Amino acid sequence: MLITGGRLRDRDGLWDIEVRDGLVASLTPARREPEGADAAADTRVGDDVVAAEGRLVVPQFVENHLHLDYAHTAGRPRDNESGTLFEGIEIWAERKAAGLNRREEVRANALAAAREAVSHGVGFIRTQVDVTDPDLTAFTALVELREEIRDWCHLQLVAFPQNGMVAYPGGAELVERAVREGADVVGGIPHLEPTREDGVAALGRVFDLAERYGVLVDVHCDEIDDAHSRFVEVMAAETQRRSLQGRVTVSHAVAMAYYGPGYLSRLLPKLVAAQLGFAVNPNENLHLQGRGFGAPTPRGVAPVRTLTEWGLPVAFGQDSMADPWYPLGVGDLLRVLDSGLHVAHLLTPEYLARALDFITDNPARNLALDDYGIAEGRPASLLVLDAPDDETAVREKAEILLSVHRGREVFRRRPAETRWSV
Ligand SMILES: [Zn+2]
Repeated sequence: MLITGGRLRDRDGLWDIEVRDGLVASLTPARREPEGADAAADTRVGDDVVAAEGRLVVPQFVENHLHLDYAHTAGRPRDNESGTLFEGIEIWAERKAAGLNRREEVRANALAAAREAVSHGVGFIRTQVDVTDPDLTAFTALVELREEIRDWCHLQLVAFPQNGMVAYPGGAELVERAVREGADVVGGIPHLEPTREDGVAALGRVFDLAERYGVLVDVHCDEIDDAHSRFVEVMAAETQRRSLQGRVTVSHAVAMAYYGPGYLSRLLPKLVAAQLGFAVNPNENLHLQGRGFGAPTPRGVAPVRTLTEWGLPVAFGQDSMADPWYPLGVGDLLRVLDSGLHVAHLLTPEYLARALDFITDNPARNLALDDYGIAEGRPASLLVLDAPDDETAVREKAEILLSVHRGREVFRRRPAETRWSV
């Protein structure tokens, strides 16, 4: 396949990108200039030649925080009346106790959700998988799915103890079992454990497993409207102590939005030293947090702009697709990015020019994808967006005209046509 006249985010001019044997075989200056920004959008020049005509060619998007095993379960066994995180967790436990999580259904729902995300340009997904279940039903289903879809989507599995490592009897052992049975990442949920001390002990076990089995870490951390929830500093300390810098992701970090300036100024350098990555889910936390506060309602989203200004990689994720926590969600990262940029006050020329970092390079770093990006010799996992730059891609929520995963075409799409009558 040859993609002609594509614009790249980190180089001037237009480029021809040759894809061969799954890799970007060559990257050369385009032979022709496009016929102008309004040139007819046609990605169907031929099966093997795609005319990008000045459009942006970017690496496939990376979804770094999703729960595929929860997808499409909203309302069963019941709706979340309060709209809170903790009622969602209760409903999930009821669902498991009622035997509603059958392996085949989990697999089918997760597959449908993965396809939905991929249709929006995602090529890499880190999914959390609940392992607080003595049968590891969802986990086994997703291990199979990881294999089934590997030709068109890279799936990373997090052994995630939704009902706690301490709070759920045998929780820590189940996490370890899932790690032994092939999880790529070890997870946790310290703010759910019975006491602060239990949460610290649970994090100790998470990092023990990371060291023992060589897996990455991604913890649901401080997802609560409580300035006293301070597990992120424990994560930073454990990361430093065990030399796991660059291998640890903090998911949510909602409580950071409530920390006072004194504590925050002491905390931030520790997060930088530990090289922590952040996975922030703006839509879900806008929905779940700030309940019962009255007006003005707090936003309940981690301080993304502060983290970014400190040089910490922040990535936006979808988190939920129609589950007990959040009724919407289609895995469309451009939509999530739009929310994230708004809630974090990032609609400035400087940030808009680099907006796609939040759904490309930053989450790729959280997933530790070493060969991510468009460069000669790297796997060809890329998109053609119907926009010339980041800002337009966000403003217009650009269509994705072509998606390629490791050299394999995933889909092509024609831009929607509007036939004006006025
Ligand atoms: Zn989550």
